[in-house]
Amino acid sequence: MTKTAATRQVLLEAFTERLGADAVVSDPGELVVYECDGSTLHDATPALVVFPRGTDQVADVVRTCVAAGVPFVARGAGTGLSGGAMARDAGVIIALNRMHRILSIDPLRRRAEVEPGVANLAVTRAAAPHGLAYAPDPSSQAVCTIGGNVAHNSGGPHTLKTGVTVNHVLGLELVLTDGSVVEVGGPERPGYDLLALLTGSEGTFGIVTRITLNLVRRPQAVATALAAFATIDAASRAVSGIIAAGIIPAALELMDDVVVDALAAAFGFRFPEGAGALLLVEIDGPEAGLDEELDAVAAHCTEHGSLHIRLAADETERAEIWKARKQAFGALGRIARNYYTQDGVIPRTRLPEMLARIREIGARHGLRVANVFHAGDGNLHPCILFDDRDEAERARVLEAGREILAACLELGGSLSGEHGIGVEKREAMADMFAPPDLLLMRRLREQLDPTGLCNPGKVLPLGARCGELSATGRQVVL
Ligand SMILES: Cc1cc2nc3c(=O)[nH]c(=O)nc-3n(C[C@H](O)[C@H](O)[C@H](O)COP(=O)(O)OP(=O)(O)OC[C@H]3O[C@@H](n4cnc5c(N)ncnc54)[C@H](O)[C@@H]3O)c2cc1C
Repeated sequence: MTKTAATRQVLLEAFTERLGADAVVSDPGELVVYECDGSTLHDATPALVVFPRGTDQVADVVRTCVAAGVPFVARGAGTGLSGGAMARDAGVIIALNRMHRILSIDPLRRRAEVEPGVANLAVTRAAAPHGLAYAPDPSSQAVCTIGGNVAHNSGGPHTLKTGVTVNHVLGLELVLTDGSVVEVGGPERPGYDLLALLTGSEGTFGIVTRITLNLVRRPQAVATALAAFATIDAASRAVSGIIAAGIIPAALELMDDVVVDALAAAFGFRFPEGAGALLLVEIDGPEAGLDEELDAVAAHCTEHGSLHIRLAADETERAEIWKARKQAFGALGRIARNYYTQDGVIPRTRLPEMLARIREIGARHGLRVANVFHAGDGNLHPCILFDDRDEAERARVLEAGREILAACLELGGSLSGEHGIGVEKREAMADMFAPPDLLLMRRLREQLDPTGLCNPGKVLPLGARCGELSATGRQVVL
């Protein structure tokens, strides 16, 4: 037996004894399920998957892995799109799915206390009877977990107005890599803002085991509209016009011609003749003044050449409009065997220029690209359609993805809006950050995870690209 196999056997026996046989997956056939997250372009087989039921068990698993020198990684629903929840180096996956309780809803203080494995939508459903909701609403909200949302600082269609996860997390319980359990944050606690440091840290600083969330009051009134445009450029200009006029909609979502065709082909949606782009606009707030704001939005759409604007007359029509947006990814699945979803950010005003760059990159690599994205935030999601059985095409897809991100940086944007860096974009971090910036991040990581075993190989570039200290500890070498 090799050393690795022997270590795996020791861990298997320890976890089976302490967590129970039904809390450990070791069968190679079952481990395949945990090889990747939503981005199938990056995969690795874990040594084991364990399902702890509480903080003590998480801490025990972490201590056992560290003692054995085996890497470990937290996993929620595995809907991440940057390879973050994948176990590199035959590590152990700590799946939080059995820690899915909503521990309390406090309507007076507008707070919820939850375990990390609870689905995002379940929190809003539990808060709804009190007229409250959990604001960040990733499109994957029916399944993605709050733990994963915290790790990725997730956003969603409505975070244009209400902010992303970091704006709604009030406190965290975290298992550190020495197995100790710390509590961070809470509005009544002074000191460093460690909550902001931990939110978005992609599971590299420890395992989140409990979260206190802020709940928001449901808006008194909501109005939803779907505007059709001949081109995505015209729709993008309408987006800039709306925001420039001082209107902050609850959501501003754009879909291009490839998505329009896919939705029609897959689900029979009917859109106005000549529609090459759809802009979903939602505004909410007090009843008074909502109609005026909606009229102003419609005027901006008309000014920028919209072909037709459909206003939802009631809740059923509103749901229908959202259905088009929410089924966009599913529709793409009907026209291509695979798609690679990129996640870059650019200044909103440069949307037309960036979309032209995406078209050019796709055409040069002989690839079709569909765009469905949070336009109000300038958060793009170009979906590159491909067939993963074709190795050459797969390589072109990765190269096109890199070029799209490079274009985002060139236009003054960022590598990620909400999907995180994971394994996918870690090397590109050196294109965005200066060596001292990367070095600071690395030092922080070494402080919070001196073992180097907590989700290794993610977020920071490997080796020399991440900055190395000279013997004096001062000079940065790249
Ligand atoms: C169809 C689709 C639509 C999507 N739409 C959106 C969207 O609108 N907005 C958006 O932001 N994202 C979106 N995503 C991406 C994804 O859903 C989010 O990143 C989500 O937050 C991941 O949650 P998860 O539970 O699936 O996490 P996983 O994929 O399991 O893990 C993601 C990362 O979180 C870490 N992690 C998980 N749990 C913990 C924990 N308890 N403690 C520490 N680290 C942890 C993992 O190690 C990993 O690094 C979408 C994905 C899909 C497939």
